[in-house]
Amino acid sequence: MESEAENKNRFTRFDREFLREIGMFQRPRGFRTEITQEELLEDLERYREFALKLGCSDAKIIPASIVRVDERLRLKCRISVCHHYNNCINCPPHSPTAEEIGRIIPKYSYALVIKRDVDPKDDFVDPKKEEDIARHYRKNMETVGLLEAQAFSDGYYFAMGFAGGSCQHALCMMQPCNVLQGKRCRFVLKSRPAMEAVGIDVIDLITKLGWELYPVRARPIPPQEYPCAHTFGIVFVH
Ligand code: SF4
Repeated sequence: MESEAENKNRFTRFDREFLREIGMFQRPRGFRTEITQEELLEDLERYREFALKLGCSDAKIIPASIVRVDERLRLKCRISVCHHYNNCINCPPHSPTAEEIGRIIPKYSYALVIKRDVDPKDDFVDPKKEEDIARHYRKNMETVGLLEAQAFSDGYYFAMGFAGGSCQHALCMMQPCNVLQGKRCRFVLKSRPAMEAVGIDVIDLITKLGWELYPVRARPIPPQEYPCAHTFGIVFVH
């Protein structure tokens, strides 16, 4: 069984030394406007391998065209009202709309989708474990931010990542959102909207990729009945 210290280590910040050790952020490349399909796929494969080294249990390169957008996703934020609704700049109604994202996604050709296992799954499926849930979302958001930053430093200046859950929960631990008060975001490089907050149909995407997915915390199903729990993210690269 995992000790408390080992459990804590899984959530420590990825430091610069570790990132360089696994081959990330070696040297900047010039911005790229023209790129061959072969070069792009080679880079995507590097990002896929980085994702695994950052602790993802799986990562897949996908054509951006398979990502479906549905405005009903944002309706789920409004009814019944999620406590982040209107309380965080990265959540509805402030986050980019499904309409905008639906116009933006076709401009990308490829994306990387990541999966992180929540282990123990009780961290996620037990409604009493709010802080543990936040830690898993935070790690996922940090991973998405790093992969996006790697693609950007390789010259893909439109690289854009979306994570899961609200950054107000994952990063700010429910403090009022600084941006909505006219101040600077506390976590500029990490905070990203959730896929669902911009209308990306996560369930459709994850199912298409053949990954298992359950509606966790669908009370009153007891936590032990769930076979697994995961967090997901996506980085549109080019
Ligand atoms: S990380 Fe905090 S300050 Fe930044 S956008 Fe999210 S809630 Fe607002």
